[in-house]
Amino acid sequence: MSVPSTFAQLLPLFSIQGSLEDYLVRVTEFCRTTFEADGVSLFLRINGTDTFVLAAQSGPRAQLPWTASVTVDRGIAGTSASDGAPIILNGTAEWSNHPAKDTIGSSMVVPLITLQAESVGILNICRSTGAQGYGANDLEGAEAIARHLALAVDNASLVARHKADADRYAALAEQNRRVLDSLPSGVIALDRARRVVQANASALRLLQQPLNHPATDWETLATNLSPEGKAAIDRCLAAASSGNESRVTIEEPDSRHLQVRASQGAAFGITLIIDDITHDIEIERELQRTRTLAEVGQMTSAIAHEIRNPLTSISGAAQMALDEQTLDGAKGWAKVVQQEALQLNDLCDEFLDFAKGVALNPGEASIDAVVSELLMQMDSQLIESGTRVSFEPGDQVPIILADKAKLSQAIRNLILNGAEAMVGGGELRISTEAQQNCVLIRVEDHGIGIPEENLARLFTPFFTTKSRGTGLGLCNVRRVIEAHGGSVEVTSRVGVGTEFTLCLPLRTRP
Ligand code: ADP
Ligand code: MG
Repeated sequence: MSVPSTFAQLLPLFSIQGSLEDYLVRVTEFCRTTFEADGVSLFLRINGTDTFVLAAQSGPRAQLPWTASVTVDRGIAGTSASDGAPIILNGTAEWSNHPAKDTIGSSMVVPLITLQAESVGILNICRSTGAQGYGANDLEGAEAIARHLALAVDNASLVARHKADADRYAALAEQNRRVLDSLPSGVIALDRARRVVQANASALRLLQQPLNHPATDWETLATNLSPEGKAAIDRCLAAASSGNESRVTIEEPDSRHLQVRASQGAAFGITLIIDDITHDIEIERELQRTRTLAEVGQMTSAIAHEIRNPLTSISGAAQMALDEQTLDGAKGWAKVVQQEALQLNDLCDEFLDFAKGVALNPGEASIDAVVSELLMQMDSQLIESGTRVSFEPGDQVPIILADKAKLSQAIRNLILNGAEAMVGGGELRISTEAQQNCVLIRVEDHGIGIPEENLARLFTPFFTTKSRGTGLGLCNVRRVIEAHGGSVEVTSRVGVGTEFTLCLPLRTRP
């Protein structure tokens, strides 16, 4: 009897080809002839369970039902599988509980143990009664075959697992591609050598590339861009390569506006996201036109409204003057006409300031002198409104380079607002202060204050809460101060008062 313990004897097993099922049947046949067996059966473990099911059998005694199974720790085969130790059973006594105990003479039960020490199957080789019993030599051969089988079964399950993994990855990649292709934004992944790792359908469409033959490198992918557009994106790519996320909007000769964002992607590659924002830009432009038109409309109605009031007074006063019998009486009405005309003039100045924009005519200016002079000019007006003004010049406030007339106009606007905020009169405090790089001018009133929701809109042209306001005063203040390179701040509490602070740099911008 030849026992296949040497490589040469096992060789026929290695040349078996075909599916795992065919292979298992061939091995059982090989075992049957080699071990002169009457029945050979092979059970394989169902992955992740304690159950082994019949996978192949051969020989006249191989009449097991295909539903036959073995459970770990149960019966002779189950115990052999869990212990990992092969067993030889000789003589019917040892088969006391087996249904076929009367006919099986000798049997080898060999577990299939993988390199990872897992039992993946059980090989059963048996002879009928009357034949010679199996010995240690036979068992050694059977074990060699079982090891070979374990490897084959393990390999097969590994291949199956890998195939399942590969299928899963392919499905994931396909899903990923579909998601990317459904995005309206173009998404491009480039590797370090600027080769295209991925480009979704939108990217190809935006870069006017064929969908079926996508370019494999960035240079080819960008061929249909204008040279300026491509150069701008290349700068973005360079910035992203050094770790700075960057973006650019390019305008193509066909009037498309493409917004491109580049950021460092995985493995030092770059991800580009491209959006066609042509429509957004058109909407923004349209909105801007509408806003401008609305502002013009607002301005026109504000002007008409502001002019009509004094005009009504003028025409009323003129009528009264005409009706007056005495010269003194007529003069009284003429004074009203004069005042209203002056107010109209102020109004025109405010509108013209707004329309003209600020052109500074700077010279050396002492802020304290500007304020003192202004207060003198406004004296009667302030007394009339019941406003008591205190002026506290700061220590060593330096001469600065500024447009005195414009500055005076700006401070005047703040004083008027303060006076108007104190219905029936009140205290208005003006102070100056020298700081390291700038001069501060504060105008503080104890008036009605400004509600939180109005603070953000104060400097917007035409924003007014007054029935006879133009809403241009603060807008002009800010424009003048900013033209000097300065800033305007406001703090206010409703019912307590408001403080405006102008900050003027020691020198105006060149
Ligand atoms: P106008 O004085 O013509 O209304 P301004 O631009 O000068 O326009 O002021 C805009 C608005 O800001 C005013 O209508 C008022 O609601 C608010 N405001 C400005 N200064 C003060 C202040 N000192 N106290 C309270 N509210 C103020
Ligand atoms: Mg005002």
